Amino acid sequence: MDPKRFALRTYGCQMNVHDSEKVATLLEDSGLAAADGESDADVLVINTCSIRDKAEHQLYSDLGKLRAWKAEKPGRIVGVGGCVAQQVGDRLLGRFDHLDFVFGTHNLRKVPAMLDQAEDGQRVAWVDEEKSQARFDLPMRRPDAPAGRRHKAFVTVMEGCDMFCSFCIVPSTRGREISRVAREIEAEVAALAEQGIREVTLLGQTVNAYGRHDVRRGKAAAVGTMPFAELLARLDAIPGIERLRYTSPHPLFYDDALIRAHGELRHLCPHVHLPVQSGSNTILEAMRRRYTRERYFEIVDALRAARPDIAITSDLIVGFPGETEADFEDTLGLVERAGLVDSFSFKYSPRPGTTAADLSGEVPPEVAQDRLERLQTQQKAQTLAYHQTRVGQETLVFVDGESRRGQGQISGRDPQHRVVNVDLRPGAALAAGDTLAVELVEATPHSLLGRPLDPALRP
Ligand code: SF4
Repeated sequence: MDPKRFALRTYGCQMNVHDSEKVATLLEDSGLAAADGESDADVLVINTCSIRDKAEHQLYSDLGKLRAWKAEKPGRIVGVGGCVAQQVGDRLLGRFDHLDFVFGTHNLRKVPAMLDQAEDGQRVAWVDEEKSQARFDLPMRRPDAPAGRRHKAFVTVMEGCDMFCSFCIVPSTRGREISRVAREIEAEVAALAEQGIREVTLLGQTVNAYGRHDVRRGKAAAVGTMPFAELLARLDAIPGIERLRYTSPHPLFYDDALIRAHGELRHLCPHVHLPVQSGSNTILEAMRRRYTRERYFEIVDALRAARPDIAITSDLIVGFPGETEADFEDTLGLVERAGLVDSFSFKYSPRPGTTAADLSGEVPPEVAQDRLERLQTQQKAQTLAYHQTRVGQETLVFVDGESRRGQGQISGRDPQHRVVNVDLRPGAALAAGDTLAVELVEATPHSLLGRPLDPALRP
C-alpha cells in the first residue's frame, strides 16, 4: 500500500520553519511520505504564527476553505500547530468540526500519535507547556532535505522568552526560556557536518540569552549549559562547519565575550540581525525593551570594532502608541547612525493579551503608513549605498539555487547574508550548496550581482 502523504503550510519566523522541518521528519519516521502539494496530500498540517495582525483570522479563513479540501477525498486529516494553536487550543476543535488535531509549540513530538488518534476518529488537542529538556528531543533533519537547504541547517539552542516586551505575544505562545544542553547541540551540529552541512544557524527567541539563567544560578555546569559565547566557540571548532550564524539576539545579552567572539571565531559570519524596534528612548521604554538607543550604538560600534566587515540588520516598528513625530525621527536617526544594512519594518498593531494593547495614544493609521514609507525609503537608500561599497570586492557565495530571474542565473548568500546573483555560462553545472568565488560587480537595493572569478564559469 502506498504511504499516506502529508503537506505542511508554514507561516511566520525561522523558528516555525524549523518546527515544520521537525514535524516533517517525525511524520516521515512514522511512515508517511511528503506530498508534491496540498492537492496530493492525505494529511495537511498548518503551522501558524501570531506575531502579525489578524493571524487568527487568517487561520480561520484557511480552515474554512479546507472544508472543501477535506471533503474531496475520504480519510483526509487536518492538523493545526504553532503559536495560534498554542493560544486558542482546543477551542479550535469546537469551532471547526472538520479539524482533527491541534498541537502547541511544545508538543511537536506528539504529532504522530495525534495523527494515529485522528485516524481512529478521535479529535485531540495538546497545548501543555513542556518545561524539561524533553522538548528538544526531536529528530534531526535528514540528509535528503529539500534542494536549496542541503548545505545549511537550523539548530535550536534555546526556546521561549522571559522578556515580555509590551507588544509581543511570544512569551505566552512559546513559554518560559529554556536552554538546551550544550553537548546535545554540539552532537547535532557535528552530525549535520558529517551529512555535508556547512552552514548552521542557531535559533532561539532570544538566542544570545542562551544559558543565562543557569549561569546566574551557578548551575550551568550541573545542567550542561554555558554562556552563549562559549557555546559559539565550541561549535566554531567543529570540522566541516564553515559558516555559523545565530538569530535573533536581544541587545540586552551582548557582553564583552560575545563581542570578542565576533573578532575571534573563524566561522562566525560577519552579520548580525539585531532587532532594535525603535530609535526613541521614550518608545523603547514603553515597549519594555530594557536598553536605550545609546546602548544600541555601543553594541553596534563594538561589533564593528571587533569585525569591521560586519553587516548589521534589524527589525523596526513604527506607530507604537504614543509615538510622536520626534520619536519617529529618532528612529530614522538611529537607522542612519547605526548604519543598518537592511531592516524589516512594520506598522504597530495591537496583539490581544499584551500590555501594549491597553495603551492609549494610538497613532492614526495614515500617519503610521506615512512613517513606514519614509522609513522604508531611507532604508532602501542605505541598503543600496551599502551594496555600492561592496562593488569591487571578492566574496564567497553559497549557492541556494536558480535566481528569481532564472535564465541560467543562480542566487546565493555571501557571509554578510546578502543575496548575490550570478550569471553563469550555459551548462555550468552549479548546484545548491556549491561555493562560488565571485567579484561583486553591480549593486541594487535588493541584491548584488557577482561575476565568477573562474573565467570558465562566465557567460
Ligand atoms: S524579546 Fe521581546 S520581542 Fe523578542 S520574543 Fe521576547 S518578548 Fe517578543
